Amino acid sequence: MSSYLLALSIGDYASLKAVTKVDKVLVRVWTWNGMQNYVEKALQSAVDTLDYMSTYLNQPCSLGKLDLVALPQFIGRAEGAMENWGLILGDYNEFLWHPDYSDTDTLNRVMEVISHETTHQWFGDLISPAWWQYLFLNEGFASYLYIDVISNYYPQQQAYADSRWFYNSESAMTEEESFGGLLPTIPEPSLVGSGQEGMFSISVYSKAAAILKMLRDTVGNVTFQTALRQYFKENQYTTVTDETLWGYVTQAAANAGIPNWNYDGFLNISSFMRPYTYQVGVILSNL
Ligand SMILES: [Zn+2]
Repeated sequence: MSSYLLALSIGDYASLKAVTKVDKVLVRVWTWNGMQNYVEKALQSAVDTLDYMSTYLNQPCSLGKLDLVALPQFIGRAEGAMENWGLILGDYNEFLWHPDYSDTDTLNRVMEVISHETTHQWFGDLISPAWWQYLFLNEGFASYLYIDVISNYYPQQQAYADSRWFYNSESAMTEEESFGGLLPTIPEPSLVGSGQEGMFSISVYSKAAAILKMLRDTVGNVTFQTALRQYFKENQYTTVTDETLWGYVTQAAANAGIPNWNYDGFLNISSFMRPYTYQVGVILSNL
């Protein structure tokens, strides 16, 4: 386990709790006493995501319990929550939903943040990046798998789910312009810890989500899922790089008989994905 995932929380908290269907994981969402009735949506999102991820990856939740704590003050990153292993901490604005005073946008935000952080229990916690420039292996997956959870458990919200796919692609292209140019999904190692923008850029989140979906659409859902299942089976409790993941997708693509662009061999995912991850901007394709 990476040391950045260790957390302790002590306070006068109260919670709502539930048990997941698939792995019988105890899930509790805590907040300060008197506010616990407003964590119901957060609890449902955490349970849905745990059940979905365990089934999708054929990889049970590694812990017997998951606690989430909605804090009255939380100084975190832009997402307002942190995926510590077994103890997700976050700002109450991201966790609480009041049926009389909260709006639909807040509900969407609660479902997204809770699902995002719960996805990290696999992508980031069970398998961690070997170093910070590979953070997209955490954030790219966490920024798109929550959309699958919505599609799976709330099919009536499919139009909203589709809009989130569009958001990932569109924001990756437009938001970075404010930094004077797009940044690579895998930043230069020298940027890490430098304090410069890059390590937590939109490319590490939304662009990574968009290109991972592109890869999934290219090799097909089943092939991509097969690769992810093998990736978890063989790499849990270790650290990885981009090449580790591409190796599993390359193998699964070959097993599925997916040819390369010249039809003289199977698709090599490492060379396919390298321009999308190491170069800035959006790829210009000439057909
Ligand atoms: Zn995240």
